[in-house]
Amino acid sequence: MADTKTQVIQTYEGHPTYSCLKCAAVITLQDELISKAFSGRDGRGFLMQSAVNVKLGRREDRSLLTGVHTVADVFCLGCNERLGWYYHKAADHMQKYKEGKYLLEREKLVKENAWVLDE
Ligand SMILES: [Zn+2]
Repeated sequence: MADTKTQVIQTYEGHPTYSCLKCAAVITLQDELISKAFSGRDGRGFLMQSAVNVKLGRREDRSLLTGVHTVADVFCLGCNERLGWYYHKAADHMQKYKEGKYLLEREKLVKENAWVLDE
């Protein structure tokens, strides 16, 4: 069951962000990127410290490349597109650093760099 609590769409004007490919809602800040060297379900994934404008799906145990993890799918608040998953818990202590982090599929996101004017 999806989290039904209401959330306000946030924007981060002037910051480099990753946005939803489908509806352009801001999903995360580039500053929140931990690693680009992750695998998503269909391709490359980004491990992110935090995400906004998303809701979590049902919590479930899933067997991933790095072992069993308790995860929940992450959906865009704007268009309901599945963007990746959230790590609730990792069984393997080597994977504990992922707990509370987001794995976002690269092909679901658009990178938007803020304009920087040279003086
Ligand atoms: Zn969206």
